[in-house]
Amino acid sequence: MLTHAATATTTSPATGILLMIAAAVTLCYALACWLAPFGYHRRCRGTGRTGPKLRQPCRRCRGTGRRLRIGRRIANGLADIHRDGTR
Ligand SMILES: [Zn+2]
Repeated sequence: MLTHAATATTTSPATGILLMIAAAVTLCYALACWLAPFGYHRRCRGTGRTGPKLRQPCRRCRGTGRRLRIGRRIANGLADIHRDGTR
């Protein structure tokens, strides 16, 4: 049965504005993740090396000094799901 359709009737204008701001922020973040999917790796500060005198290659980012942004990782996951669904 579809009885949950009329639950959003008591939203105030303030809630609508907040939702719009949240949507805009999400959109900007998605755009940033799309344009620049890599952020610098904080553990090694983008150098790709750790340890005393930075001799060891960073294990977390495999020496690249970069890491995939969380938003991009989510997008990749969703793309994988989509690909599996359309196969
Ligand atoms: Zn690293």
